[in-house]
Amino acid sequence: MNILVLPGDGIGTEITDATLRVLHAVNANHELGLVFEFADIGFAALAKTGTTLPDEVLARARECDGILLGPISHLDYPARDKGGVNVSAAFRVKLDLYANVRPARTRPGLGRGHAAMDLVIMRECTEGFYPDRNMHAGSGEFMPTPDIAMSLRKITRHACERIARRAFDLARRRQKQKRVTAVHKANNFILTDGLFLEVTRTVAREYPDIELEEIIVDAMAARLVRDPGRFDVVLATNFYADILSDLASELSGSLGLAGSINAGETRCAAQAQHGSAPDIAGRDIANPTSLILSAAMLLEWLAEHRGLRAGEKAARSIHNAIDSALAEPKERTHDLGGPLGTRAFAERVVGRLA
Ligand code: NAD
Repeated sequence: MNILVLPGDGIGTEITDATLRVLHAVNANHELGLVFEFADIGFAALAKTGTTLPDEVLARARECDGILLGPISHLDYPARDKGGVNVSAAFRVKLDLYANVRPARTRPGLGRGHAAMDLVIMRECTEGFYPDRNMHAGSGEFMPTPDIAMSLRKITRHACERIARRAFDLARRRQKQKRVTAVHKANNFILTDGLFLEVTRTVAREYPDIELEEIIVDAMAARLVRDPGRFDVVLATNFYADILSDLASELSGSLGLAGSINAGETRCAAQAQHGSAPDIAGRDIANPTSLILSAAMLLEWLAEHRGLRAGEKAARSIHNAIDSALAEPKERTHDLGGPLGTRAFAERVVGRLA
């Protein structure tokens, strides 16, 4: 199986290196047969090729079995016509990786509140409020005059239907509370969030064993802090889910803990939930857990969709090694109040894999 590795910007190189140590170890332990190839994206690609996302990289991503995608510093990129392509958005839209699956789980001794939490946010990530993914041509954000800025949001029946189905399938597979919480603001966004709710309710009828609840997004932010343990699968459109998932992962202890994948019907990219963290880049203090857990999710996806033998088992060994390391306060990284740097933490995880 070919895995395309794209380290990205900021802390990308450090957390990718840490993740590769773990992947090399499970590759050997479980005889997975993973073959890694590397390419530049982001500022490294911009310097060499004039664009943050060269066409060859996207073409290669279409051919590989899986992608390990580092974070990118797109806030600092030049304009699109100067080569500043939002790599993350381009992968999601061009490879149709429409489901951004974002788990958040508390562990003993970790977490910002007292309540336990084990939820997954199912985020639609190819449309919504994001101006770079809601127009056929041009941008969904524009200025009719220098003093007026406007933005369009796109919500389609097709995208709502397939992400809702993913959410209900996941709730069924997880065998936990068997509940999907649909987050919306249909009180204001009557047509767009109204369509999202209408489609979600229709899909829900195919899953009589799964409860559908509906919560308005502002109340959801409060409920997530007050009572995170009541949520199982949380289904939301792009922007709401982006914000709520950072809240959920920080509640679990740190933004650095939360793995995620972007999955379509035939392709998958592992990608940390957080950004490129330029404020801590190059100091060996970033927590690599998010990308390591994302890689574990990719192995699970490869097992299910590409028949990767022992992929599930290898993923489970990564989850267990991470849990075991995080259980020790002296084995945690700086964001969690621990003493370890990025490399040292990865080594502890590798040491616990066997
Ligand atoms: P961020 O997620 O990079 O960082 C937010 C805060 O969390 C920072 O204080 C950072 O140090 C901390 N943090 C993040 N990841 C961490 C980790 N693994 N370990 C320890 N601490 C961690 O968000 P930001 O600062 O708002 O954005 C920085 C850049 O990242 C911007 O250019 C933004 O556009 C980009 N971004 C990229 C992605 C992506 O590639 N998918 C996602 C979000 C933001």
